[in-house]
Amino acid sequence: MEHTIAVNPWASLAYLVAGVCFILALRGLSSPTSSQRGNRFGMIGMTIAVVTTLVTHVPRHLVYIHANLMTGTIGDAPFIPDYTTIAEILVAISIGAAIGIVTARRIAMTAMPQLVAAFHSLVGMAAVLVAGAAFLNPEAFGIAAAGQIFAQSRIEMGLGVAIGAITFSGSVIAFLKLNGNMGGKPIMLPGRHVINLAVLAGILGLVAYFTQDQSPWVFWTITGLSFAIGFLLIIPIGGADMPVVVSMLNSYSGWAAAAMGFTLHNTAMIITGALVGSSGAILSYIMCRAMNRSFISVIAGGFGGDSGGGAAAAASDRPWKRGSAEDAAFLMSQAEQVIIVPGYGMAVAQAQHVLREMADKLKEEGVRVKYAIHPVAGRMPGHMNVLLAEANVPYDEVFELEDINSEFAQTDVAFIIGANDVVNPAAKTDKSSPIYGMPVFDVNKAKTVLFIKRSMGGVGYAGVDNDVFYQDNTMMLLADAKKMVEEIVKALG
Ligand code: NDP
Repeated sequence: MEHTIAVNPWASLAYLVAGVCFILALRGLSSPTSSQRGNRFGMIGMTIAVVTTLVTHVPRHLVYIHANLMTGTIGDAPFIPDYTTIAEILVAISIGAAIGIVTARRIAMTAMPQLVAAFHSLVGMAAVLVAGAAFLNPEAFGIAAAGQIFAQSRIEMGLGVAIGAITFSGSVIAFLKLNGNMGGKPIMLPGRHVINLAVLAGILGLVAYFTQDQSPWVFWTITGLSFAIGFLLIIPIGGADMPVVVSMLNSYSGWAAAAMGFTLHNTAMIITGALVGSSGAILSYIMCRAMNRSFISVIAGGFGGDSGGGAAAAASDRPWKRGSAEDAAFLMSQAEQVIIVPGYGMAVAQAQHVLREMADKLKEEGVRVKYAIHPVAGRMPGHMNVLLAEANVPYDEVFELEDINSEFAQTDVAFIIGANDVVNPAAKTDKSSPIYGMPVFDVNKAKTVLFIKRSMGGVGYAGVDNDVFYQDNTMMLLADAKKMVEEIVKALG
């Protein structure tokens, strides 16, 4: 029997419109000012895609099976909506949406990376399940004739299940590491590169062999090996490198969806999957550059080296100076320019609102205030931008690393609030440091450094000591970030 797929031109048009909405969504998300509009485009695109699939694909699909069983033909059956199936799908969507809404509302901003990793694992598992269903019942998907799955579909299915399984197991490990259920330290298996290469070669070889032999063992071995390689690729990666991994898995989940789009003959899935896959890859590349890591070694896995991920602190006995909120208020009110460097601790303390109040007060006194955002500050890409936007900090006061770093040398006060790794000069000077190579803010060049953190013993994500604490021009403000800034605001009067 011929491999014919009936394409509804209206559905294709609707998917095209959805695809354009997704592109506009990505465009909007590239800047904080247009991000809400971007999100709206994304929601509209997804609604169009889901509704189009529901009203065209579901009923026709079931009629195909019917027509196929009764007459041995596919593609020419009348359009009969199957309301029972639609109702079942709507119930499933409602359950998923309810879980999603509750989880998203409850989750703390600081736990976002593990939530994202958990969501990616679901996308990976969905791809595995769709591929499994298509393998077990290929006629229902219109990808087989007389029990033989078309060769092209076997390649799509093989690749889809492989990428999906890698995404699933990799994301589960990323979730466990980010959530603290598994140590952040890299786990290095001896000969891991050889093992990884052998497993990858095995998967690719089996996908090729699958085109010749559609025995269940081939399909399920591809699936099993892919689950294993996802696990093997992520366990050697240390905590400090996790941001890139999360973004890389995001990209993999897109490619898994695109591969399944081919199996399901769904243009919307192909377009969306390709957009997620390529934008995730671009983001990973940008983050690799920001952290001075090699992109290729991230994809290959296990570049984590000795990265710590909250490992033991090297708390030093060197002398340091402690300051009070009043000292900080005085120093800043006398300054011409203050650069605020927020980090993960600001997110933990939820200090962004009171921080903006402090900046407003300083501006009233004629001080120029700027915010410096590091690409990996906090625990997810854009973390600080989101928090500052929530506190209505004007966008024109927010600067990226490369645009502001040269200004510290001419700045009176660098005000570090809950940041640590992103201002650690060891990234430039200490080759043995886990963060060596990551570009950092040159806060040590400012006339005065005010450093808010809770204790001298506490460390940043990479678990290393920071020379800035002990500089002559540094004043440590030891307290919860929100409480300290509230006191500074009071002292500013
Ligand atoms: P760090 O994790 O390096 O440092 C956080 C600092 O905040 C610590 O010094 C901590 O010290 C302090 N702190 C914590 N809670 C509070 C509080 N309530 N009040 C005041 N201070 C507090 O943060 P950075 O933003 O500088 O660096 C981000 C790190 O996270 C990088 O290593 C990056 O690679 C990694 N990462 C980034 C991701 C991303 O996508 N952005 C994702 C995953 C990891 P103390 O305990 O003493 O208060």
